[in-house]
Amino acid sequence: MTTGAPTTSEITVLNPHDGTLVGSLPCAGEDEIRGALTAARSAASDWARTDPEERGRMLRAAAEALVQHATELAELNTRETGKLAQEALGGVMAGVGTLRQYAELGPVHRGHSLRGGVLAADWTVAEPRGVVVALTPWNDPVAVAAGLLGAAIVTGNAVVHKPSERCPHTGARLGEILAEVLPEGVLVTVTGGPEAGRLLTQLPEVDAVAHVGSSATGRAIALAAAQTGAHVIRENGGNDALVIDDDVDPAWAAEQAAIGAFTNAGQICTSVERVYVHRQIAEPFLEALAAEARARNRDRDTMLAPLVDRRLRETVQGHVAAAVADGATVLEGGVVPDGPGSFYPATVLRDCTERMQVMREETFGPVAPVAVVESFAEGLRLAAADRYGLAATVLTGRIAHAQRAVAELAVGTVKINNVFGGAPGGSAQPRRDSGAGFGYGPELLDEMTQVKVVHVEMPPARG
Ligand code: NAD
Repeated sequence: MTTGAPTTSEITVLNPHDGTLVGSLPCAGEDEIRGALTAARSAASDWARTDPEERGRMLRAAAEALVQHATELAELNTRETGKLAQEALGGVMAGVGTLRQYAELGPVHRGHSLRGGVLAADWTVAEPRGVVVALTPWNDPVAVAAGLLGAAIVTGNAVVHKPSERCPHTGARLGEILAEVLPEGVLVTVTGGPEAGRLLTQLPEVDAVAHVGSSATGRAIALAAAQTGAHVIRENGGNDALVIDDDVDPAWAAEQAAIGAFTNAGQICTSVERVYVHRQIAEPFLEALAAEARARNRDRDTMLAPLVDRRLRETVQGHVAAAVADGATVLEGGVVPDGPGSFYPATVLRDCTERMQVMREETFGPVAPVAVVESFAEGLRLAAADRYGLAATVLTGRIAHAQRAVAELAVGTVKINNVFGGAPGGSAQPRRDSGAGFGYGPELLDEMTQVKVVHVEMPPARG
């Protein structure tokens, strides 16, 4: 945490499982935010001059510190955001893995030599940007933050991190654990809501803003950065489609759809947000998908996380109710349960159309809205006609259809036959409303640095 400067208000977090109080934390006011940026700026030049190998060593120590506190952080995350215990621990360990990766990759991140004149020397240097503001979401708070912080720190930047107001205790504790093994000011954490985030992006002292979060916030940040000149990396919302061909096993396709739509109660940026299934297999697919949803609703303590809060639950229920009013049929779920907390059932809707909000916008809940299509080509066309561009999956046994999907889907990541498939270090640029730049992988080291070209030649011989 930062200085003891005056604060404006408090954030209160309720446990999404049972509605009990997790705790309250102060929102950073303007003085505290300016203090955080000043502390980071004071640390930035020494840190930039620290040997890359030493920076890597310290980041490795930060990863090991996180291992020591993995269970504590995972439990805190479960209490704040409702994430199931195993998934919360998985998220923390994913963060550890990312820090370790950047600890190795940072020192070997390098420039190029260029081919100038025979007697000249030309090369590029990747320099840190300076002070990076990281604004992170709540849905996988440790894993996402570890990526941005690790890449920024190992390349020699000082960071001011503002975690989400929906998991401020997790974010603050993560900051304490990591900052303890880093030089003072290299990582400063401030807690607060959108106001604090807005101020951090409007101040000209910031060299780069890395935002993982909603598309609306991403747009506001891009606008603010147009005024300050800060470099912006945005990893934003998605409305990922799942297109199902007629030659696949409908029960397997239903498993894939359920994993994609219901894991973490649909609160993953690359959750399946809409499904286009070929008419040929639509009936057995829908039946199997409804059964998958029912199984999760029966055993929600181990299979279905709650939504992060009742505000999100209202949005999700709004999308579902509007779809039903417009002709969709509920096969399973769709009703807000009684009782404390913010659970929402795994929900399957059929007869969905492109008019519906549930198909056009990111719902971010455990909802699988399904449209039946007459051909794979129709499914692909509908999947592609979207303002988001994060990722998409197709299930098909035909190589020609898979190739066509790769060519026609204007998204950062196309997955064939596995909704959450991917290789370590895989990173793509999201398109349109889903953001800009690389938010993950080795390429994030490029985003966190700026390239300088150096040209050297000898002066002419004297006299
Ligand atoms: P959010 O954008 O509301 O919040 C993220 C961070 O931005 C928080 O720290 C928040 O306080 C801050 N913020 C909010 N308004 C701001 C403003 N006007 N200026 C500056 N900062 C501001 O997002 P969220 O609701 O916390 O997260 C859910 C969203 O994140 C979903 O849309 C999800 O798809 C997306 N997400 C994307 C990825 C990805 O890699 N593409 C990963 C995880 C989550």
